[in-house]
Amino acid sequence: MRAHPHTQGLGMASAAARKRLLDELRQWGIADERVLGALERVPRHEFLDDALKSRAYENNALPIGLSQTISQPYIVALMTQALLRDGVPRKVLEIGTGSGYQTAVLAELVPAVFSVERIKHLSETARRRLSALGYQNILFSYSDGANGWPSYAPYDGILVTAATERVPDALLEQLGVGGRLIVPVGPTGSQVLKRLRRTATGYESHDLCDVSFVPLLAGRA
Ligand code: SAH
Repeated sequence: MRAHPHTQGLGMASAAARKRLLDELRQWGIADERVLGALERVPRHEFLDDALKSRAYENNALPIGLSQTISQPYIVALMTQALLRDGVPRKVLEIGTGSGYQTAVLAELVPAVFSVERIKHLSETARRRLSALGYQNILFSYSDGANGWPSYAPYDGILVTAATERVPDALLEQLGVGGRLIVPVGPTGSQVLKRLRRTATGYESHDLCDVSFVPLLAGRA
């Protein structure tokens, strides 16, 4: 049998580790098979430096340089599951491209992803990596995500992968009616992952769980 191109280089160790990770996500309550399927397909080791590739299928956040981290697989799954709960959004805005791992998971599931990153090196690296992996439904912007990405608004879903003390107005405005916004809110050490839904008259808000994200910072770097 021919190896799947995404697992080449890590071989069987990777296949077993991926299966263990999927089992763990199920045990932790991720039940959406679409989301589990996407996490099974995306080669997380491709988003890490060589020294960390062997740990790619552990259920942990890991450093990606420049004081940033690739999100924990469980949190990626949880956020994606919350985003898809009322149906598959057509257009999703992601704030905080980082390694591009969450971006790839989204691109597996929705028709179009718009991903914003404030650190130039990360944005460019993620763009190259996701293009090499064959994704064609992602647009990248090197800019401050607190402004959203007005040109393509409104979005059916917005997912923020850095924590903010106050949800930026631009993101609330660029969310279409019926759309969902998944965002970690609060200061470092005391953040809650929230799911907001825009209705015809306002926003409904639900807390999902306590989380620990790097902060949403202003401006470009
Ligand atoms: N989903 C990413 C998580 C990266 S960590 C992954 O799994 O790899 C959060 C990212 O948000 C970092 O890359 C950080 O630079 C970025 N970020 C922080 N503030 C931002 C802002 N205002 N606009 C855009 N990106 C921002």
